[in-house]
Amino acid sequence: MMMDNTIKDLVAAYGHELVENRRYLHAHPELSFQEKHTAQWIRSRLKKAGITLLEGISGNSTVGCLKGNKPGPAIGLRADIDALGLIENNDLPYKSTVPGVMHACGHDAHTAILMAAAEILAKHPELIAGTVYFIFEQAEEFLPGGAVQLVKDGIMDKIDYIFAIHVNAESPIGTLDVHGGTRFAAVGTYDFKITGKGGHGGFPHTANNPLIPASELITAIHLIPAMKCDPLTSSTVSVSYLHCGVEGVANVIPEKVSMGGCVRVLDTKVRESIMKEIDRLGRAICAAHNCAVEVTLVYGYPACIVDEKCAAVMAEAARELGINVLDVPPNLGAEDFAYFSQEKPAAIAWFGLADPTGTHAPTPHHNPAFYLADEAGLPLALEYVLTVYKKALQRLTTP
Ligand SMILES: [Zn+2]
Ligand SMILES: [Zn+2]
Repeated sequence: MMMDNTIKDLVAAYGHELVENRRYLHAHPELSFQEKHTAQWIRSRLKKAGITLLEGISGNSTVGCLKGNKPGPAIGLRADIDALGLIENNDLPYKSTVPGVMHACGHDAHTAILMAAAEILAKHPELIAGTVYFIFEQAEEFLPGGAVQLVKDGIMDKIDYIFAIHVNAESPIGTLDVHGGTRFAAVGTYDFKITGKGGHGGFPHTANNPLIPASELITAIHLIPAMKCDPLTSSTVSVSYLHCGVEGVANVIPEKVSMGGCVRVLDTKVRESIMKEIDRLGRAICAAHNCAVEVTLVYGYPACIVDEKCAAVMAEAARELGINVLDVPPNLGAEDFAYFSQEKPAAIAWFGLADPTGTHAPTPHHNPAFYLADEAGLPLALEYVLTVYKKALQRLTTP
């Protein structure tokens, strides 16, 4: 068994390269499904470290694999690699060099941390038992997400347990949010294209205004969680866009309306019934007003379920490093890590990386001023990921 101070020493020896790698990735962000250069960077470094790349992995995702000399479980460690369509509003030497694209969710940090963990374990096979898979996932931010394809590519057939961290720019360094059970929402979107009949405002009886069913739908859809769902389940439905007519043109009844929004629920089964009700209401209300409607429903990520045993491993690893484990309730955000969690025991934790100096106020994710205290926090995050791996080998058996 490795000594507890070994991981700290290995992280110290890896040095500033961790922060440099994160900053390099931050300066060169790529949108979901377009992470070509990021994937090249990942693959060439893994190969250089002597890590086998799995064949048959689609798109810009990459899976590296290392086997230890001792028997043990197959453990997956996952990082997502994509950036977002945002203009960075930070004055930093490593600010995004790509107009309109920014790592504003910290996936640059995830990639750098997992790469460092892979390079360290490649040099220290004595720390590995069984097999460890380093999963660099494309397109977490954009439906259908990268995880579902990795599952189709068969990686979860090889893996017994899977872990991930997500950095948290709003929570201080030294805090971690992990718990078992349902963690994030199942999501869905809907879109209505409603067609009535355009005409003159003075002669409404010769026209058929599609805004009438659209406005009724806004109320009807918002009532679904209140009236059609068990009040003890958590669900929300939003109407997010409504487009019709020409701004300022008051005497024209429009012909078409497009409207849509999203559904978020903690129980994946409830999503199905809400989506069906949206579909039913869309068709019924438009029919009542003699308007045609095209309904498009998209089922996004399922709910993310964190395994209790894996969550306990992540919490124990945190306590060993003096990290404060917070008990944060589940929320209606979404994570495509959910697809892995449907296949095998899985856990994801949120790792605090807010600026301890207060120079950068904590910012929400997906914000143009998103900021991570990388220098202060990344070494601890790396130490944490390696400690999770160590604890997983101690606590989890080969199924
Ligand atoms: Zn995000
Ligand atoms: Zn993210």
